[in-house]
Amino acid sequence: MNAKVWLVGAGPGDPELLTLKAVRALGEADVVLIDDLVNRAILEHCPEARVIAVGKRGGCRSTPQAFIQRLMLRYARQGKCVVRVKGGDPCIFGRGGEEAQWLGEHGINVEIVNGITAGLAGATQSGISLTLRGIARGVTLVTAHTEDDSSLNWRALAQSGTTLVVYMGVAKLGDIRDQLLAAGMPGQTPVAMIENASLPHQRECRSCLQDMQSDAADFVLKSPAVMVIGEVARQAQTLTAMCNEAVRTQPIHA
Ligand code: SAH
Repeated sequence: MNAKVWLVGAGPGDPELLTLKAVRALGEADVVLIDDLVNRAILEHCPEARVIAVGKRGGCRSTPQAFIQRLMLRYARQGKCVVRVKGGDPCIFGRGGEEAQWLGEHGINVEIVNGITAGLAGATQSGISLTLRGIARGVTLVTAHTEDDSSLNWRALAQSGTTLVVYMGVAKLGDIRDQLLAAGMPGQTPVAMIENASLPHQRECRSCLQDMQSDAADFVLKSPAVMVIGEVARQAQTLTAMCNEAVRTQPIHA
């Protein structure tokens, strides 16, 4: 028996952002375990598979992690091809590393398939280049949400000179603002908050560090959303305008 589990990233939502490898894994699946944030449109690639929803959204009733892991193990030990589909990339705030290790310890082969993580997609889809020569030499992906008491080194983040991309931060905008202001980041630092990145109902709220919580409240920003904090967020509208202009003047299929 060749038990195997694929941990597959489905990308941020747009089903066309799936990788070819993800499509192949889905095509081979007997059982698909699918997270809440994954667009159900991708199931067209696995019409024969048994699909089990294992949502784990913060704050909602969710399938316990241990139960999901046992499900994967049970089906894999039955010789089934198991595909666990997660939003974005499995190893960016997706527990992919933990699950792979646990399955490995139980003798199961695991293959991880990268997906496009929401922070990268959200920035690009709203016209932001996360690195930009002369403006940002790097990107830092962080989450404001922790299950333990660990805290981020906000001072190091504020001084890093990299663009910050914050995941799972909608309910923590006030904390994030206070921590970054206290760490010396200027209140006028541009911020873009992108909800439902890459989906037809994507929305973007533009603000700055000191106003981001009140602007998000007025905008009724909802999860899932990512926050892009840094000078690159100022470029957003210009870049979008330039891209649209380029599309108008240089049709790809001319
Ligand atoms: N593994 C995922 C992240 C899971 S954590 C990835 O790589 O993208 C869940 C968080 O991801 C959400 O709280 C939100 O911050 C972000 N997220 C996921 N999908 C999103 C989307 N379509 N638009 C904006 N943010 C999204």
